[in-house]
Amino acid sequence: MQNPSRYLVTAALPYANGPVHIGHLAGCYLPADIYVRYLRACKKDVLFICGSDEHGVPITIRALKEGVTPQEVVDRYHPMIKESMERMGISFDIYSRTSHPVHHETAAAFFKKLHDDGYFEVKETEQYFDEKAGVFLADRYITGTCPVCGYEKAYGDQCEKCGSSLSPEQLIQPRSALSDAIPVKRKTKHWYFPLQRFEGWLKEWILEGHKEWKNNVYGQCKSWLENGLQSRAMTRDSHWGVKVPLPEAEGKVLYVWFDAPIGYISATKELTPRWQDYWCDNDTRLIHFIGKDNIVFHCIIFPSMLKAHGGFVLPDNVPANEFLNIEGDKVSTSRNWAVWVHEYLNDFPDAQDIMRYVLCANAPETKDNDFTWKDFQDRNNNELVAILGNFINRTWVLMHKLCSGKVPRLHENLLDDDDRWIMDEIKSAPQKVSNCIEQFKFRDALFEVMELARKGNQYMQKKEPWIKARQTDPDGKITAEAQQDIDNALHLCLQLTANLAILIHPFLPFTAKKMLHMMKVVDRMLFWENAGKLNLLSTGYSLRAPELLFRKIEDEEIQKQIEKLKAGLVPAEEKNASQLPDENAKAEISFQDFEKLDLRIGTVLTCEKVKNVDKLLKLEVDLGHEKRVIVSGIAQHYSPEELVGRQVVIVANLAPRKIKGIESKGMILTAEDANGNLHLLQPDQFTEPGSAVK
Ligand code: ZN
Repeated sequence: MQNPSRYLVTAALPYANGPVHIGHLAGCYLPADIYVRYLRACKKDVLFICGSDEHGVPITIRALKEGVTPQEVVDRYHPMIKESMERMGISFDIYSRTSHPVHHETAAAFFKKLHDDGYFEVKETEQYFDEKAGVFLADRYITGTCPVCGYEKAYGDQCEKCGSSLSPEQLIQPRSALSDAIPVKRKTKHWYFPLQRFEGWLKEWILEGHKEWKNNVYGQCKSWLENGLQSRAMTRDSHWGVKVPLPEAEGKVLYVWFDAPIGYISATKELTPRWQDYWCDNDTRLIHFIGKDNIVFHCIIFPSMLKAHGGFVLPDNVPANEFLNIEGDKVSTSRNWAVWVHEYLNDFPDAQDIMRYVLCANAPETKDNDFTWKDFQDRNNNELVAILGNFINRTWVLMHKLCSGKVPRLHENLLDDDDRWIMDEIKSAPQKVSNCIEQFKFRDALFEVMELARKGNQYMQKKEPWIKARQTDPDGKITAEAQQDIDNALHLCLQLTANLAILIHPFLPFTAKKMLHMMKVVDRMLFWENAGKLNLLSTGYSLRAPELLFRKIEDEEIQKQIEKLKAGLVPAEEKNASQLPDENAKAEISFQDFEKLDLRIGTVLTCEKVKNVDKLLKLEVDLGHEKRVIVSGIAQHYSPEELVGRQVVIVANLAPRKIKGIESKGMILTAEDANGNLHLLQPDQFTEPGSAVK
């Protein structure tokens, strides 16, 4: 969409079931904020919408665990999340919440319209019911074994190990997540939305019409659409949520993924009486920033709902990021493996921009990425301090020393090739940065800004004003000729600094503010139309003393954070103690069941990494009577060298599986500890390969 009249930018509504961590920021809030700040700098009409997602199972489970009401949970976390976002400079126009009455009305009316237009199919089905807790168990309330990959802790709606989307009925050996009871089937009635009716339209709209969407987003949509869509229940048996607005639906609420995205609309209503300009006029460009686990809801389900309702704009793009891991491990709120934003801000007050910088420079834009404290330190010390901070500081110090604290004049007749080079770089930088931002390539965009600062340092190094200053008259005064060179160099360095302030502002707003203060200029200078100009600071204008923009981060500070992270880790045993069932427990089996397993001792003959896959190793194992190729997901725990010659326990009669194109015959047994580390099982002395394990 070229030059729309207005932009409506949303960031996924975070569940108010816990504080936010830096993975949330990297996933969607920071990229959305950069984009919006850029649009505002371009004088676009833009609204930036977010709020807390206060319904749904995550909230009720949290409440249950803590023995409080769901309302108490959201009342605790909503303000916390809001404050963390504000302090990090995420510049929402509104941060609302789905418990707001405007939202309840809006979501209920939306449902009612689809109902009146005859969209819903009402179906009575048997659903799992927890007799101990006395409630129906929808999706996340049920855990069991994934029929696709065999993971034992899959949820009733999704397996987090293999990513398959599931229905509770597909789980093997289901258990209630509330009471650990074995659930029973009971009849219940629900309202289903026929997604399959939108399949043809979605295919055309996305697969034909939005080939420009990011690969990860387009690819997921394609696979959903190719697998075929089905009706999806849009109501739940629960008392927490938006009540279904039908008399016959007592005790039922809207499915959280039905109500939450409507939260974008309700929040806009709450913000402005002009909300319809944004939601109902086709000249709006609607953009949803989300994390990858939200793709299907924002690209398939919500658009189908909007389409069915009619009168609303559809998303023009849905830039979803992948996940950010922490120190090599998946973020886990239950294990407390996360860097919490409020804690970061306590430990590093006024260092919002460092985190923004690191998260953007290392954003999981195309694949999962890793945050490490060491990288945080390196990027700060080697990039922010050594490149950006250093350039600006040198410029300021020299300008005060050699040009009496004023913007020196530019002697046009004396410009040389180096001057012209840096002038061209300044002029061409904004276009490079905007191109990247407009394609949602924020890492590249930030890199371009830093490149310009890097070039500033190169320029300064070539010009060496401090050396020129040694050319003095007999009375010790800098010669007129040398002074003119110095003037030109510093004039251009100052104009470059002003340009850097504009370009860095979407990424590092706090730093840009400080730069404005040093330059004694007003916010207005930050408009993007000023980027590339060489007359932002007028000759003779006196500037303030330099301010410290970035400081070095010491090893001890980083060490402390790493220790804190490790010390905070909740081991699995404690989780059990806090009245949760043992997540590994499985239903009893007979001896005959056990005997079906053919377990053998094997010796690893060769071992290599599977190309382009971090987790997998390909092993050749001697089983006595034969050799087997086995692919195993232990590459992050063992190196190939460590394994050759080692004995392992094999499930020898597991059906062969193709993994990344390699036929794997059998499985190697490992024990998984509370931290997710895998440990190989091994006989305590050498045992003939092929020996049976019983
Ligand atoms: Zn699975």
